[in-house]
Amino acid sequence: MNHFPIFLSVEDKAIVISGGGEAALAKLRLLLKTTARLTVFAVQPASEIEDWATDGRLELVRRVMTRADLSGAALFYAANDDAREDARVAGLAKDEGVPTNWVDNLEQSQFITPAIVDRDPVTVAIGTEGTAPVLARSIKADLESRLPRALGPLARIAATFRRRAMTLPAGQKRRAFWSEYFETAGPRVYDEAGEDALEPALDDLLARHDQDDRADGHVAFVGAGPGDPELLTLKARRALHEADVIVHDRLVTPEILEIARREARIIEAGKTGFGPSTPQSEINALIVAHAADGLRVVRLKSGDPTVFGRLDEEIDACEAAGIGHSVIPGITAASAAVAQIGQSLTRRGRNSAARLITGHDIAGYADHDWRTLARPGEVAAIYMGKKSARFLQGRLLMHGALADTPVTIVENVSRPDQRVIGATLATLPHDLDAAEVSGPALILFGLAPRSAVSAIDTLKEIVQ
Ligand code: SAH
Repeated sequence: MNHFPIFLSVEDKAIVISGGGEAALAKLRLLLKTTARLTVFAVQPASEIEDWATDGRLELVRRVMTRADLSGAALFYAANDDAREDARVAGLAKDEGVPTNWVDNLEQSQFITPAIVDRDPVTVAIGTEGTAPVLARSIKADLESRLPRALGPLARIAATFRRRAMTLPAGQKRRAFWSEYFETAGPRVYDEAGEDALEPALDDLLARHDQDDRADGHVAFVGAGPGDPELLTLKARRALHEADVIVHDRLVTPEILEIARREARIIEAGKTGFGPSTPQSEINALIVAHAADGLRVVRLKSGDPTVFGRLDEEIDACEAAGIGHSVIPGITAASAAVAQIGQSLTRRGRNSAARLITGHDIAGYADHDWRTLARPGEVAAIYMGKKSARFLQGRLLMHGALADTPVTIVENVSRPDQRVIGATLATLPHDLDAAEVSGPALILFGLAPRSAVSAIDTLKEIVQ
């Protein structure tokens, strides 16, 4: 992030604009929404600027700008539609130490102006560091259509009421009150009776929420999917928004944790197959203790919580403590991995069952029904299989699996650093080492990427 987004206080501050044409007009349309004092220097101003000056919305000075004009300015826009004049005035601003936006000159600008969705006092600023204005515009259009028009008045009235709502305990209770106001009660009252009815409506709502008992704590076991935040379910997203505390696995990506509320407490309960781990008993105690305090706990697990996630142990702990719980499924690594290579886990005529197996369990390398797995056409998605690859290979070959059975390793499924490594049972341990697979990896036994399969089919056809 080369540009850090901030919201600058400009109330009664001077903002100076040099230029009176298209570039200046574009910036002025935004700046006129602020409470800043605007001064425009233009020899030949556009008629809109003249009108704004007549209306007292800005001060228009009909000459070129000098350094003295910048004294005390908070921001400066070089917007002359003329590179030489922009260079001259930007130079003056630099000497005067005034932060400058040189229109259409990213390198020479100290700040850039984002695309803005305006529901004052709610403002959304969208920036692409100047790389993709088209993208910023489409995000803006999307948000414009999604954010209710009444958001501004709702937020304004909420601000005047904030102190009174402090009588509700911070956390879940107070949030429930505000959620109801912003999401249901507020928009309804605004539509029916307008802005003036909002404050009495808040009074009623507060009285009702005041009488309620303290909220009960709850643990939601939520599947975070394989890493791409777009592979979260809507329920998972909502649970993340509502959580007071999030206890997550090491495999959960930062992009997904970003979805949590700023105030949520985020705790990493590291659990990796090898290396340092948080003992399961500590994780159980942690989620139970927070929920017992009346908080909403999300126990966020990579993939699907019901697949190699030690879910039952944590549910048992909740039940023993009388804590309510729910499970929100997620996309397990196997589903995401086969999707990436264009294959199915099951296929008519090839395999009528697919196994999800683990490379190791509490006892060490995990034993499986090798004889069945070794049969041609069988498919298994092997979790936590990197370290046990040689063991798996040995067992499968010993039980008659063909050495050229396709095996595909998918590392960091759905993440930007995803890699697909095509191998065979014969080459699996070697290929894993050679590729230096260091991220989480799923081994798909019995499957090759679709592209590789069709290439082989084509070759077969040619040979025949
Ligand atoms: N509950 C998880 C699995 C946890 S066990 C799920 O449903 O996906 C951890 C193992 O899952 C890892 O060792 C790896 O084999 C696999 N895994 C999890 N996330 C992965 C990812 N993004 N890419 C590849 N494999 C992954």
